[in-house]
Amino acid sequence: QFPLGRRLPCDIYWHGVSFHDNDIFSGQVNKFPGMTEMVRKITLSRAVRTMQDLFPLEYNFYPRSWILPEELPLFVAEVRMMKDSDPSWKPTFIVKPDGGCQGDGIYLIKDPSDIRLTGSIQSRPAVVQEYICKPLLVDKLKFDIRLYVLLKSLEPLEIYIAKDGLSRFCTEPYQEPTLKNLHQVFMHLTNYSLNIHSGNFIHSDNVNTGSKRTFSSILCRLSSRGADVKKLWSDIISLVIKTIIALTPELKVYYQSDIPAGKPGPTCFQILGFDILLMKNLKPMLLEVNANPSMRIEHEQELSPGVFENVPSPVDEEVKVAVIRDTLRLVDPQKKKRKDTHTAEVLLFQVQFCRLVCLCSYLENKVNIRYDYFMCCRCQTLEHVSEANEELLDAGPADRPENDAGRSPEAALPSLCLKQVFPKYAKQFNYLRLVDRVAALFIRFLGVKGTTKLGPTGFRTFIRNCKLSNSSFSMAAVDILYIDITRRWNSVGIDHKESGMCLQAFVEAFFCLAQKKYKSLPLHEQVAALIDCCEYHLAALDEKRLVGGRG
Ligand code: ADP
Repeated sequence: QFPLGRRLPCDIYWHGVSFHDNDIFSGQVNKFPGMTEMVRKITLSRAVRTMQDLFPLEYNFYPRSWILPEELPLFVAEVRMMKDSDPSWKPTFIVKPDGGCQGDGIYLIKDPSDIRLTGSIQSRPAVVQEYICKPLLVDKLKFDIRLYVLLKSLEPLEIYIAKDGLSRFCTEPYQEPTLKNLHQVFMHLTNYSLNIHSGNFIHSDNVNTGSKRTFSSILCRLSSRGADVKKLWSDIISLVIKTIIALTPELKVYYQSDIPAGKPGPTCFQILGFDILLMKNLKPMLLEVNANPSMRIEHEQELSPGVFENVPSPVDEEVKVAVIRDTLRLVDPQKKKRKDTHTAEVLLFQVQFCRLVCLCSYLENKVNIRYDYFMCCRCQTLEHVSEANEELLDAGPADRPENDAGRSPEAALPSLCLKQVFPKYAKQFNYLRLVDRVAALFIRFLGVKGTTKLGPTGFRTFIRNCKLSNSSFSMAAVDILYIDITRRWNSVGIDHKESGMCLQAFVEAFFCLAQKKYKSLPLHEQVAALIDCCEYHLAALDEKRLVGGRG
């Protein structure tokens, strides 16, 4: 801790809440700029919804949500329509204030007219969401899962998931929501901070019992009942990767604004807390993402009325210590140095081996035999790697640190609890990263560093450079599109400091242009085709500039 004054540069900076220090020019910071904003309930819902528009089936792990107050009329209309088409549908909804946590201000409703409009909604926006009525129960209780995810790098994307997490239990037996039990928080909300106040809360020294258990203990139980635990893990990994893919485009905009490319700055990593609910059929559903998950390994115990003491919590300790320890192992700058040296040694060896083979071949005139042998060795490795990419999750032992064989001090530590899932499974998920490519176009035209919004000139340049305007889409129409969409987004956005077009507005404009240009295709194909077209024209332009520059 450096309570006062400036200090020498550090290898790792551990910020308590969010990325906040723009005076760091090297090392690694444990928070990404903009992450806190990105995982707020409204922003997360918006980011996931953009992905649901493009890939509805792939993103059906997030409950249908509406943003209040702006989408209240839409919410009312859609619910009425769905009820009309299926009169047996008796939904329940959960209203969650934006930026709230620990169950604060959350309530359940049966009908849109039950939303408490007085005061709070206007001053405090919220998300209203379909309530998952049939969760998986253990010991007749509802529970959710807290999983820790390390976003180790944004570019290139690197994601790790902790192999164990926490299961947090309600303290009243679950019943499907009825008008009578809607308000019973100990039955419907799994928040630890709420349930701890229930007389039924059980602190346990054992990771298999009590109101907070390890996720692995639940998996063991499910497995003994014959559940397909491997498939469940694979679905969870897929949910985590897809959620991060939904968040990365905007995170990149924040990143370039706080840490401009080409200027000295730190790199970032972040531990995220994913809250996941399992449905009765074992389908995992995303509830929310926490940018600053609690890492407490103690809990309060009331010794006598009103007298509290902090006592160790073995369940928290088992899960959280491993997450922090392994995060530090993965971002260890010494390890990177060792790895670089190791890679250099391997490369040197390969070059020398190659030279040796060529030399021998030349001397012995056995070029083909030797060359084939070398290729064969390499192919085997590549094949091995691609096989590993095929299976989406072996729930086997966690990753070992790359070079812990013998000489590394890490050899004495337990194997990593953090399992790399991206880029390991990149092949299965890269097709979803369309908005990332749209964000790359957006960032290119942002121009002045430090901004997160695109001005009208930047938007016009984008249209011109990508050759998107023609006789049926004039530059005047371009300006109208810019003004319309930007005005609407700025009236609902939280960031009023900067004027201009934010990324979501640009994405909306981009989808509009794609629909115009490629009418007959499904939306994700329209968008992919327009991205290809833009990237093609920009590459040609860069090439021309390069040649012109050389000339
Ligand atoms: P907070 O940040 O206040 O904890 P959450 O989104 O995590 O807000 O919701 C609090 C609790 O409410 C969750 O832990 C879960 O038990 C319950 N919950 C939230 N959303 C849903 C939902 N769509 N369906 C069922 N239960 C939900």
